Order: sequence, then structure tokens, then C-alpha cells
Amino acid sequence: MPNKKSYSVKLLQLPVPEIHDLYVEGNIPLAAGYLKAFALKNNAAYDEEIEIVPREIVNFGGDAAILKYIADSQTDAVGFTSYMWNIERNLYLAHKIKASIPQAATLLGGPEITPNHWSLESNAVDSFIMGEGETAFSNLLRDLKNGSALRRIYRTEFPANLDKIPNPYLEKVLLPFQNESMFLETMRGCPYLCKYCFYSKSDFRMRYFPDYFLPKLFKVAREYEVPEIYLMDPSFNVTPGLMDRLESIRRFNASGIPIHTEIRLESVTPKIASAMKQAGFHSVEVGLQSVNGRALEAIGRPWDKKKFIRGAGLLKAQGIDVKTGVILGLPYDTMRDFEDTLDFLMQLELEESMEIYPLSLIPGTRLRDEADAYGLRYMPQPPYWVTSTPHIDEKTMKNTVEFIELKLDIEFFPPIIPIFENPYPLFTHFLDLRTNPTPQLETLFLHPEKIGHSLTIILNPQVPMELLLKLGAQLKESNPFTLVQLVIDQDDIPSQIQLRHLKDAFYRPSHYFNRIHHFKIDSQNTYSLRFYLLTGSLETADKFIYQPFPCDLILRYSSSVLLQGRDVLEEKPILLVDSPISSLELEELERLYDGFESLLVVKTPS
Ligand code: SF4
Repeated sequence: MPNKKSYSVKLLQLPVPEIHDLYVEGNIPLAAGYLKAFALKNNAAYDEEIEIVPREIVNFGGDAAILKYIADSQTDAVGFTSYMWNIERNLYLAHKIKASIPQAATLLGGPEITPNHWSLESNAVDSFIMGEGETAFSNLLRDLKNGSALRRIYRTEFPANLDKIPNPYLEKVLLPFQNESMFLETMRGCPYLCKYCFYSKSDFRMRYFPDYFLPKLFKVAREYEVPEIYLMDPSFNVTPGLMDRLESIRRFNASGIPIHTEIRLESVTPKIASAMKQAGFHSVEVGLQSVNGRALEAIGRPWDKKKFIRGAGLLKAQGIDVKTGVILGLPYDTMRDFEDTLDFLMQLELEESMEIYPLSLIPGTRLRDEADAYGLRYMPQPPYWVTSTPHIDEKTMKNTVEFIELKLDIEFFPPIIPIFENPYPLFTHFLDLRTNPTPQLETLFLHPEKIGHSLTIILNPQVPMELLLKLGAQLKESNPFTLVQLVIDQDDIPSQIQLRHLKDAFYRPSHYFNRIHHFKIDSQNTYSLRFYLLTGSLETADKFIYQPFPCDLILRYSSSVLLQGRDVLEEKPILLVDSPISSLELEELERLYDGFESLLVVKTPS
């Protein structure tokens, strides 16, 4: 066992930034779980020495809340699992930790940390863990514990034998949640060579977890009644003895927990499709990316059209949902090619589960190295999206989103709806400044750690501007990654000057949340800060139909809205019901907002 001087390491994985909690259930710290389970098994740490920071802090707390949690725990090291959506926040927090608890080592690992990555320049980070983390992290822990100087980079030369990697669920380092998928790996490595992906470049040797894990893991999944098992294998179909593996899963999954995974459609045969169904697979993710052979060649993804069509048909016939990925902005792809790709999937009736992504040029990938040769222009910061190509200029790329929305009748960027309640007791996500603003704000100024990862603020003209400006400055200082929604409760459209002052105070243009809306055409063009006008005046609301304003409309419901405001309701503004309403009226509203449920916000006083 390690020598007994106790030390403390915190591991955390910050979620995809969002206002509501749609993706939080997917923020499962599996990587941290593997690191901890391996360290315990290999005597690099005691259980109490490594803590995976509780999910309510990580998922719902603002920056100050996370920093306070770490500072209060007097930790020796803090490790961040880094993805493109959290790397900037991780670096900000590492910087703050270095300033306030200089004795704590800051560690960055995860898929985002690749050789020559821009974050390697950061002096807020003591050590980076590159590639497969288990062995490297345990080596780091030993150095930390022995008082040895930490290396800048910890990397394992040889990928671990997966027989020796314990599963975090079986070691009870991670516990599944009833309403969350359970993430499982049956293999590591990928034999394919997609040029936009770093995974195959770093880990092309196929390795498999031993079979005896599976029945135990399915037993845990059953005990915790998880709604889905998410097999994280990059290409499940390359499992050796695939039919035997499917038969084993069928036996272990007698209760029929739905399983999701990624496969190549071309390899699907009638036998495989039927065995997948029997085993409990309910959906698969498949990459098509494009039907343009030249684009596919450029990204290193050969494609067999006939077999693809056959595979899709076989799985669909078994009732397995086929989620097909399409990429916008590939080398050589024109708008015509992109449209052909959508048409092809529509002919196969796969459009409902189609997932469209702008091309990301991830640091360290072959395609990023070749970007100049293909004339691809891209964001230097995450999500590294291609913004124009020699075949699709930037304006066309932006218009493409509207084109997709019209063609597929989908919303590419769901509307940003404020939160009108405080769903998590630990943190403030909703602040009503229309009464007693000063005492409420004084409390928050004293305790910025009470602020959540997202904050809706309702104000009216009576709230002093200097108080709001102070709040904006405080938020930027203490919680710069908190997403802010300012709801202005008044009947007049806010003046440009009023909005400009507030924008100067609250807006942080460098927020990742702004970049992921790059392709959205919008009258505000800011997303980490969003303005809303809350009004019950149909006359004011009517103006929004004919003219875009630099704020979104929230119509306050009253009976006259149903009687006289049908034309406004047809435009589907956000509709806030914040006073008692009859069940007949509510039914009528629900009927009118059928298909737009998120825009109907009912917060009647209890
Ligand atoms: S994108 Fe998927 S299939 Fe392609 S190399 Fe990466 S992990 Fe493998």
C-alpha cells in the first residue's frame, strides 16, 4: 500500500454549457472513475484520498462554487477531464486554483489533451496526462505522494492490458443513476483511420476487456434500473467473434435494457441485425458524413453505398433506430453534395434521426494538418469548426443552417429559454429583482459561490442601473462562465442605450457558448448573454412579428391573449403563464403549442 501520509486529489469533469439540463445526464465521469479504480487496485492511493467531485457541484454550480468546494477541501491536487466544451473553463479554474491555493497541483487530462495542443502553453497547469490515463495517473500520484517534482507530461508508452483495468462500476467507484445511461466499454482502439479523429491516431491497437466483466455489469445495470446501456466502443462491429458476443449479451441482458452503440453499417448482415435486436440494441450511431466520394477519400473514410443501404434496411426492419452522422464543410463538398447527402438519407427514411455537425478540425488530427492544403478556414479555439471552404463560403455556411431547418423541419439551434425557478437548492439559477433588489444582490455579492452555472434575472425599470452594472461586473469577475439571461419586465421595447449598458456589463464574447452558435442567424447575436422583453401588451408583442429587435419576446399570458392575440401566438413567442389559469385555457394553450412545448412556460404561483 502507499505510505500512510494522507493526501487528497479531486477529479472533476465539467458539463457541456447549457441553460437547462438536457445534457447533464450524459456528463458521467467515467474517465475519472477508471483513474480512481485503477489507482486503488494498484496501490497508488487509498479510497478516501481521491474524490470525484459530486455531480451537483460540477453540473449545476458556477465557477465560484467549484472553486470554493476545492478551496474548502484543502486538496493537494485537482484533475480536470478535458473535452473541447470544457477546456477553457478548466484552464480558468486551474488559473484561479494556482492563485488561491498555490500548493495544490493542477492536472489536465482527457481526449482534448493532445501533443502540441495550445493548452500545453498554460502556466496554470502543473501536469498534463496524455492518451490513456490509468497508468500515467497512477505514476503521477506516486510522484505526488513521494514528494517528487511532477513531470510536465505523463504519458504511457504502451497501452494497458485491459485485463488489468478494473471497471469503476464494479469497484463501486461510480454508481449508476436510475435516470441516466450507464456507460460501458468492451474494447479500446479503432482500426479505422478517419482523418478528423484523433482517437485512431493515438490508439489504433485493438484491445478488448475480458468477457467476465459483462454479466457483472449487466447485473449492476439491472439493480440500478438504468434506462439505457451506452456501449462506448468506437466501432462495436469490429469485435472478434461478434455473433458470440451478441449471444452473450442477449443472455446477460435478459431483462432487455435498451443498448446503444456505434457501428459501421456496411458490416451488418441479416444474422447480425437479428442478433442485435435479440441482445437489446435499440439504436446505433453510424457515420455517413457525405455521399461525395472525393470528400470521403479526403477524410479517409471509404464507403460502400450498396452495403450501407442494405445495413440500414436490415436494422430498421428489426426496429433498431439508425442515427446517421452528416458533416458540413468537408473538403471538396459543395452545397450540391451536401444536399445530395441529405436527399440520400431522406430516401432511406433516416432523416428523423440524422445528426448534422459542422466539421471540427481537432488539434493533432491529420485533417487539421492538411487544412491549408484543402483551403479550410476554421476557428482556432474550440469547437474548431470549419467556417468556410473553397466550395462553401462563410455566408453560405450560415444560410445552410436555415436551409437544413426548412428542409428537415427541425430546429438546429433550439431556442434559449430562461429558467423561471430555482431547481437546485444549493445554487441560485433564478433571481427576481423586481422587488427588494438590494438585499438580494448584497447576499450574492458576499456569496458568489451561491450562483449557478446559468442565471436568469428578471428586472424592471425600477431596478437601479448602477446596481445592475455592479452585478454584471461581479459576475464577470467571480463566475465568468455562468450563462446569463436578462428578462426585462416592461411594456416598452428597451432602448438601444439601455441594452448597450447592460451588454457592456454582462457580456463575455469569448464564451464557448457564443462560438457554438456561430452558424445561427439571429437579431441579438449573443448567446452567453441573452436579452428578453417580458410584456403582457399585445400591441408591443405585435411589433416583434414585423421587425427583429435585439431582444427575444416573452409574452405574459392573460385571458385577452387567447381572445385577441391569436396572430401573435401563431408566431410562437415564449409564452409565460405566471398567474392562475383555468384548466380549459391551459388545454387550449397546450394545443396551440403542440410541437413547441418548450416555449410554453407555466409557472403559476403555488
Ligand atoms: S471517427 Fe470513429 S471510426 Fe473513425 S477513426 Fe475515430 S473512432 Fe474510429
